Amino acid sequence: MSTGYYAFHQHFGHDTGEDHPEHACRILALEQILKKSGVWDHLTIHEGQAAHLPDILRAHSKAYVDELHLIQPEQGHIMVDEDTTMSSGSLEAALYSVGTTTQALDDLLKNVHHNAFAATRPPGHHAERSKSMGFCFFNNTAVAALRAADVHHLQRIAILDFDAHQGNGTIDILQNDQRFLLLSSFQHPFYPYTHFEQNKYTNLVNVHLSQGATGTEFRQGIEEHWAPALKRFAPELILVSAGFDAHKDDPMAELNLEEQDFAWIGQWIARYCQSRNIPWLAILEGGYDLNALARSATLFIAAMLEKQAIQQTSA
Ligand SMILES: [Zn+2]
Repeated sequence: MSTGYYAFHQHFGHDTGEDHPEHACRILALEQILKKSGVWDHLTIHEGQAAHLPDILRAHSKAYVDELHLIQPEQGHIMVDEDTTMSSGSLEAALYSVGTTTQALDDLLKNVHHNAFAATRPPGHHAERSKSMGFCFFNNTAVAALRAADVHHLQRIAILDFDAHQGNGTIDILQNDQRFLLLSSFQHPFYPYTHFEQNKYTNLVNVHLSQGATGTEFRQGIEEHWAPALKRFAPELILVSAGFDAHKDDPMAELNLEEQDFAWIGQWIARYCQSRNIPWLAILEGGYDLNALARSATLFIAAMLEKQAIQQTSA
């Protein structure tokens, strides 16, 4: 039983410019608190790798991938949508983000670890089949889900997304495909506004959190809506779009979760997976207040380690 931590230095090349909330210090802050808390010493650290194009093309159109290569600037920045900045190193970082996620997936399915965390940036869950959006170019989670199904031949993969924003890209790519169950909790109504309503899709379960919602509402929503759907679906693998921007200090959303709520959801998933011997992979999405992100994600990762580190971290 062990937990893998997958990261890559190429993300430093994804320069989003001054005053952009999604920047390289997010990963640095997380790793600093992981080390300070002692959690780092319990993880098996891996250096990530670049994606293979066929993996990306399961989730994204070739025309879209070609277009990203064409528009990437040689210097300076361009805006790919109103929020998504691209610099000369962005595409390489995005390719490593995907490749690191699929590497972690492959290791899990070879029983190298029982769970793993991929410290990805740029994030992925807003990227649709043919559209960059919300700081995202390629949908790391959807690519991993499709690889698990098509290459590893898994038949039931659950995707749990607790980022403060609905993962519109993941739903766009995996909608109505019965190999995937999409469980989501997010502030509503809120960005990305292209709301994917549950009753329009056969594999989507939404937990709506109103502006100002606390951990109490979050935990209730998970127990009432995610738990029965997971039980019915009986997944062979769980992928987690792990966004930490529902924290009360986060500037990009208006929810009031606290660090212990992220420890709780980590323990909730860990318990579920441990009792059924299901591998699980968490992939970093949002989280923009450095201190809140680092502390929340560290508690979440400590929960992945199960008993020993949970006690150490809370001590
Ligand atoms: Zn978010």
